[in-house]
Amino acid sequence: MTLALYDTWTRSLRPFHALVPGQVGLYCCGPTVYDHAHLGNLRTFIFEDLLRRVLQANGHTVRHVVNITDVGHLTSDADEGEDKMEKGSRRTGESAWAIAERFTAAFLQDWRRLHLLEPTLWCRATEHIGEQIDFIRTLEAKGFTYRTADGLYFDTARQDHYGHLARLQAEGLRAGARVATGEKRRPTDFALWKFSPPGSTRQMEWDSPWGLGFPGWHIECSAMSAKYLGPWFDIHCGGEDHIGVHHSNEIAQGEACHGTRPANFWLHGHFLTLEHGKMSKSDGDFLRLQSLIDRGVDPLVYRYLCLTTHYRSSLRFSDAALSAAGIALGRLRSAYARWPLGGRVNVQYLERFTAEVNQDLNLPKALAVVWELVKSELPTAERRATLDQMDLVLGLDLAHWQASEQPLPTAITALLAQRQQARRARNWALADQLREQLSDLGWTGQDEGAPL
Ligand code: AMP
Ligand code: ZN
Repeated sequence: MTLALYDTWTRSLRPFHALVPGQVGLYCCGPTVYDHAHLGNLRTFIFEDLLRRVLQANGHTVRHVVNITDVGHLTSDADEGEDKMEKGSRRTGESAWAIAERFTAAFLQDWRRLHLLEPTLWCRATEHIGEQIDFIRTLEAKGFTYRTADGLYFDTARQDHYGHLARLQAEGLRAGARVATGEKRRPTDFALWKFSPPGSTRQMEWDSPWGLGFPGWHIECSAMSAKYLGPWFDIHCGGEDHIGVHHSNEIAQGEACHGTRPANFWLHGHFLTLEHGKMSKSDGDFLRLQSLIDRGVDPLVYRYLCLTTHYRSSLRFSDAALSAAGIALGRLRSAYARWPLGGRVNVQYLERFTAEVNQDLNLPKALAVVWELVKSELPTAERRATLDQMDLVLGLDLAHWQASEQPLPTAITALLAQRQQARRARNWALADQLREQLSDLGWTGQDEGAPL
């Protein structure tokens, strides 16, 4: 059962083979730590965690590198606007360094609450300024840079295939030239090093061969992935918004510096959306994991919700979807917890599950196999042992769930209360109707509130 992954570079499903057999280099663009991560960001990290688990289930050892962007990501991806960190500092009155510290810690807490596997290595942009400067010097020596009043830029006209990842057309690029570009020669050119604005002191700035300033956003990932995984590694991931700018520019830098795009496969997670569109940190009004916890929702319910939609489809967030995920996870946990240890793994079910996840991480279909197993006539110990293997990929941490600690999902509690009231009022029709609703949601024996 070979693993096939959808590669944005070729726009096709490709069989995955590690460059070095058994050893996979995986680089994932991490968070920009000027604010809390929102549920959308976390969806992308859950997708990357699933990828890692599937690679491991296929026998690979994964060297997983995740960066922390704590400098250089401007409010506009077109190299304009303010550094997000410095802007965050003005907003909260803390130093840019303190903000980076605080939101990195909050991010790591979310990471663990979602039961994401610890990367082999976390790396911070501000701890790799020397590597970024070295990278830029090579680009300069090879003639890929030019200088403007506000920084050193990458000259995308030097590459015939610039923008291939995003299928940017030269035609479109020329049309884009009508857009104001400042001193940039082309709209697609991007900053490698930005100068500190004259007359004002930045909190985060460093000396460089080009003057006092800070690195552009894309160079950190090029420098750190090359340092920790080499110039040519297996898989590079991020959210779909990275295709057009950030990853296109990382590829441009890699090709200019090393003569190759950095990674063999490029995988992108699609967005979590809200009713009015995409969820974004700069909206000021976004949902984060803590907002769910404050509403009594277990973080792993959000993880379960993410499993229900393929990573290459957008996922519309809604309270109804979240509560359905809560109910499903509750059923799965309580069934699992009642089953005895000591069974053997059912190979047929596990193979069917693996075939689904190996088909470009088709978790929705894999979940259907999980439910078939749960409802099967197999001995319960066998169901449990098989589920344990599946959970190595699902990451729902079933083995550590403590039934007594978990409150009933709020939707169920509300229906149970309504049903009790209907029974007290001897409104049998309503009571029956509510029982039907509970049963549709997978809850029976509802007078005691017991799950299936
Ligand atoms: P950032 O903290 O903005 O640098 O983003 C961290 C990760 O989240 C990146 O891989 C982004 O592509 C991804 N991302 C941003 N917004 C969303 C969203 N609404 N849904 C899913 N992923 C997102
Ligand atoms: Zn990156």
